[in-house]
Amino acid sequence: MVERPASAVKELVENALDAGASRIEVTVADGGKTLIRVRDDGCGIPADALPLALARHATSKIDGSDLLNIHTFGFRGEALPSLGAVGRLRITSRVAGEAATEIAVNGGRMEPVRPAALSPGTQVELRDLFYATPARLKFLRTDRAEAQAVTDIVKRLAMAEPHVGFTLRDATGGGEGRVVFRADPESGDMFDALHGRLATVLGREFADNAIPVDAEREGLRMTGYAALPTYSRGAAVAQFLFVNGRPVRDKLLTGALRAAYMDVLSRDRHPAAAIFVSCDPVLVDVNVHPAKSEVRFRDPGTARGLVVTGLRHALAGAGH
Ligand code: ADP
Ligand code: MG
Repeated sequence: MVERPASAVKELVENALDAGASRIEVTVADGGKTLIRVRDDGCGIPADALPLALARHATSKIDGSDLLNIHTFGFRGEALPSLGAVGRLRITSRVAGEAATEIAVNGGRMEPVRPAALSPGTQVELRDLFYATPARLKFLRTDRAEAQAVTDIVKRLAMAEPHVGFTLRDATGGGEGRVVFRADPESGDMFDALHGRLATVLGREFADNAIPVDAEREGLRMTGYAALPTYSRGAAVAQFLFVNGRPVRDKLLTGALRAAYMDVLSRDRHPAAAIFVSCDPVLVDVNVHPAKSEVRFRDPGTARGLVVTGLRHALAGAGH
């Protein structure tokens, strides 16, 4: 499940978000191959729960019947155990009003819980990813490419959570590291906050040329911002798509986005947009391929129609 540094970062940041963090700091070194550190100010993990957070994978491996549960409940409870199996993992955590503690796992072997020092929240540090499995290490791309993938996923997660502050540092060579990306927490309602976050992630020029989108069709809702045709890019790097708050790269949605702009944008240009589709979870399967972030709508035609007409309507309203 942990294929590369970016997928580890995604799991750890999602845990921080689940913990109600308002600020999340990510630090990587050597493209995340030697160090991935995620620090949050969320609820923390109580000392007696630290071993539990790491134990489930071991249980599922020994007791075959648990494999069924993994299947039934998707991939829940698998991130930390699988990270502990592929690198040197250290979790330091503190619940407000309690003392900080930490636990380390090396090559799947858990050390005892020890006292530590930390302000409330959690810090998860993963060092030397795949050090015990050189075959998997070999499949990683260059430090630069892996670092780019980390930056990409942090930006996508930051776009999905405008009220949360994000900092990404590159600590290659040691030290605190150089800030690669920084987004301060945005305030206001969802549209205001998203507009502010858009300016941080995609630039002021994009934010100034983006129109709000809000449409609904048969239980699916689309919200977000889309660029005016006068602002577009040659590469598809400025497309941020989310389904029920999760970043996705979905052919159906990307195709719908393109189709909506077909008449107003030349062929080699890609519309920039941050689009959120939300619906009752029964109307979409987001676990088709967790690593590739593909989704399957129960009614693909409705999803496509929503995006195409919703965007065209917004563009027409803006005179295009
Ligand atoms: P899952 O997120 O599916 O529950 P994980 O393996 O990712 O599984 O995490 C295991 C558990 O460890 C979580 O359910 C949560 O209780 C705890 N946990 C992990 N990361 C954090 C964090 N940053 N803050 C608070 N609790 C955390
Ligand atoms: Mg998790």
